[in-house]
Amino acid sequence: MRFRPLFRLGFSCASRMSGDRTTSSAVRPSNVATQYQEQLFDSAAKGNVEHVLAMLKAAVDVDAKNDRGWTALMFAARNGQVSVIKSLLEQGCSMNVLNSSGQTALDIADFWNHSDASSALSDGAVVPTQECQNYYSLNPLNRASDRRKHPEWIHQAVRRDNTKFILFSDLNPFLIEDTNQKSKKSKYVLGLFSYNQLAEHISKKPLLIFLGLETWDPESAVWFAVDVTGVEESKLKDVHKDGFFANPFPLTMQMDDRHAGIFAEARSILTWHDRYSFCATCGSSTVVQEAGYKRVCSNADCRSHKGINNTCYPRVDPSLIMLVVSPDGNRCLLGRKKTFPPKMFSCLAGFMEPGESIEDTCRREVEEESGIQVGRVEYHSSQPWPFPAVLMLGCITHAKTETIKLDNDDELEAAQWFSRPEIVQMLTHQHPGGLFVPPRQAIAHQLIRTWVGKTSNL
Ligand code: ZN
Ligand code: MG
Repeated sequence: MRFRPLFRLGFSCASRMSGDRTTSSAVRPSNVATQYQEQLFDSAAKGNVEHVLAMLKAAVDVDAKNDRGWTALMFAARNGQVSVIKSLLEQGCSMNVLNSSGQTALDIADFWNHSDASSALSDGAVVPTQECQNYYSLNPLNRASDRRKHPEWIHQAVRRDNTKFILFSDLNPFLIEDTNQKSKKSKYVLGLFSYNQLAEHISKKPLLIFLGLETWDPESAVWFAVDVTGVEESKLKDVHKDGFFANPFPLTMQMDDRHAGIFAEARSILTWHDRYSFCATCGSSTVVQEAGYKRVCSNADCRSHKGINNTCYPRVDPSLIMLVVSPDGNRCLLGRKKTFPPKMFSCLAGFMEPGESIEDTCRREVEEESGIQVGRVEYHSSQPWPFPAVLMLGCITHAKTETIKLDNDDELEAAQWFSRPEIVQMLTHQHPGGLFVPPRQAIAHQLIRTWVGKTSNL
């Protein structure tokens, strides 16, 4: 009887709340907020858009949760209330909240076969065509790589009125506060500058990277990243008075999702330029070409000019991150690096070595770090990680053995099997021992959530 428990959690919760509402006048003022919150859930479940909006106006948080972690969006999803879902998304509610069973609103709509509700929720996703929404992977720009080989076009594009520049100093991005009141998801966006605001600096030929066009329309705004290391910050603050150069952690993890994707492209490329000024083959200096996407050796006799070589183009370093599922399918393996924040556990991970397949790396890393042997490897999704230019390849893999043996020399200080209920507590920050997993911006979180959502005993 898979359906009963969720029915109790979802549907009857809302009816219990409408019961509470009838006694509202007798309740103390400190409970007024709770009453409004419960009315919000009740009207979301019943499809009463007007009342939902009225409750939000009455200052109820759009992502407020009840004691089982259910939000208004989940009640709407449970009952297939498409118009409520659309209104809540317009009001900037988060699609990423998990209830105490580890489900999102989309999981709930899918489970109850409310296909209209599921599509409304998918349409509300940051990039609707993308299956996974890994942070740093949601770059909306059209890279228009063919334009890179046309220096005259690039020269003109830099000088267009609607061209947008994002700034970096010592590889740190210039951020401003996200003042979009509708979205509570992000704290920061990239500070944008125009050519006129930077003309003097650009005349000194700083490192300038063509990031792409804003849309697939060739006339749409062009985006560039520009290195402004050494420029006085006060000059930039004339344009954005509260702007600042942000250290990567944790600030770039708190950006608007799309801007985080653009940042990831720009920072990976800029870091490459920062570290590869000289030819890896002969040691001569190199010259920037292709609008920042190539560095060519200045020595005409260098072997790097002949044949196929990978020393001229920006590098990407593939790394595997995997959730290991126990042989019985009921537990998963997480580990702790010494460098993690206290009480955080995450998926095992490691760099791919030359000549390895994804499966090889996954099996080798898991065995090296935990002594566990794994068999089947399923690819999940990937995430660019711009520190400096890693591509995280996320997998779910199935263990053949259960005995953990830590490698004393390795960076893991602990590894253990966790049951599904315990993982849900860790995902929702309700673990009695305070254990938790990385936040939604980390692909580890998405792997763990996928496993919980796929097979949780509803
Ligand atoms: Zn060379
Ligand atoms: Mg390793």
